Amino acid sequence: MTKRILVVGAGIGGLTAGSLLAKEGYDVTVLEAAAELGGCAGKYKRHPYLFPVGATLGMGLEPGGIHERVFRHLGKPMELEPLERVMEMVHPTGTFVFHKDRRRHVRELAAHFPQHKTAILSFYAELYRTARITRTLMGPLPALPPANAREWAALTKALRPVHLRLLPKFQLTLGEVLKKHGLHELDAFRHVLDGLLIDSMQTTTEDVSYLLAAVALDIYHEGAYYVPGGLYRFAELMADSIKENGGKVKKPRTVQTLEHKDGVWHASDQRGNMYEADAVVFNAPIQLLTELLPVDHHHRLKRPLQEGISTETWTTLTLYLAIDAEKLAAPLPEFRQLSSGAAMDEGHHFFMSASRMDDRLRAPEGFQTVTISTHSMPGYWQSQEDYETMRTELSERMLELIEQHIPGFRSAIVHVESGAPLAWQHYTGRPNGYVGGFAQTLDAALFKSISHHSGLPGLYLTGDHIFPGGGTIGVAASGIHCARSISGKALLT
Ligand SMILES: Cc1cc2nc3c(=O)[nH]c(=O)nc-3n(C[C@H](O)[C@H](O)[C@H](O)COP(=O)(O)OP(=O)(O)OC[C@H]3O[C@@H](n4cnc5c(N)ncnc54)[C@H](O)[C@@H]3O)c2cc1C
Repeated sequence: MTKRILVVGAGIGGLTAGSLLAKEGYDVTVLEAAAELGGCAGKYKRHPYLFPVGATLGMGLEPGGIHERVFRHLGKPMELEPLERVMEMVHPTGTFVFHKDRRRHVRELAAHFPQHKTAILSFYAELYRTARITRTLMGPLPALPPANAREWAALTKALRPVHLRLLPKFQLTLGEVLKKHGLHELDAFRHVLDGLLIDSMQTTTEDVSYLLAAVALDIYHEGAYYVPGGLYRFAELMADSIKENGGKVKKPRTVQTLEHKDGVWHASDQRGNMYEADAVVFNAPIQLLTELLPVDHHHRLKRPLQEGISTETWTTLTLYLAIDAEKLAAPLPEFRQLSSGAAMDEGHHFFMSASRMDDRLRAPEGFQTVTISTHSMPGYWQSQEDYETMRTELSERMLELIEQHIPGFRSAIVHVESGAPLAWQHYTGRPNGYVGGFAQTLDAALFKSISHHSGLPGLYLTGDHIFPGGGTIGVAASGIHCARSISGKALLT
């Protein structure tokens, strides 16, 4: 039986796999390059403030949600604050509110477009129906693309006659469904959907897989949460569970080589320590695989994985601010998207999360900490000159847009830092600051995703480049797939 498990990277994907396996009695060692756990869902401190580095909005925590199932299985309940008002979406055409309640959400959204009310209601009726059916298929967490008899059997077992209704939709984009409802030229409505999708699916209505978009637009209604302190607490809970079950979590330990020799995996870290394992869960960015593995291993990696390694994804510019809330007319809401209307990237559209006024883990009384992030193309950050110009321009664009909506915002800032692509590369090991995983387009999603099986024996992959993709729930799912493949057990029912 496979016993010793090495987890490379303590992001949410790696810790999910590691904690499930440690609970099953495996001898788990997690090696994390950074000083903090959680990767893109981690944190950093600047006394007296605490900033989430990336992820802030908690999903999958409702009863039956992926994280809730994992935490329940580990016996680690989590303190949560459910959101009825998930986020505000501030657009030039108006401010839209994402309500948890589906009916209220659609009713208020449609009220912004009275002449298209009937079309919007029928669009959402179809979207929610599709999401409901897709969720029943995804609930048992089948792994795609199925790589062996066990995974085909799990997929077949999840299938119900109702899923046949999904077949004609597999090859549709959301844009085509909007067209069917006569909404494809309603730019302001489309822009709202684009804003939501770029943050969850890394692409917009035009190209996104309809089935995944339906789930992504519906999932906030299942439950969205403010997590006091931040999502780094997921990482801490799972690391605690690993240690309580006899495992080790070591940091900072950067894995520098990984080799499969005589049926055993051998790894080394930056201190020259050597590790041996029967199986490896690789949670570091897939682009690092070809750096860490010996050349003669490369051609054995699965073809889609090899192609994925050389595919560019988005990078990001993040701003970390501390705000003196007493200088503002009202405290900042927890979650808000702002959009200038021009584009979905480069500071024209961004996500802004603020700590609750009573969240003492994040800021002292009277203050809020804020994380802001926008999508950016890596190509714009190539030369040193471009790099500083981009950082200044994008920061200025975002702060200006906020100031337009919240007069006095800039003078309430008491601390500011930015995280440009090289900072992401430095702190999370992501080459060129690539974050978020692949855009969920028809040619990269579902059966065309990258499997958690690498192609090399005993080397499994988790993270936002792997099926089903990004967000903490996506990477937790690929972590569960790794744990299932290693243990041969369903683990979570
Ligand atoms: C700005 C931003 C905002 C986001 N907002 C949200 C949100 O609100 N809600 C949500 O659900 N998701 C959000 N996401 C997405 C979510 O954070 C990620 O999809 C998820 O956290 C990625 O997890 P991961 O396991 O793939 O990898 P990572 O988080 O990247 O973790 C990988 C880990 O591996 C480590 N590592 C790298 N190389 C090595 C090595 N050689 N040796 C050892 N360790 C190594 C890294 O240090 C890192 O800790 C956001 C992402 C970003 C960038």
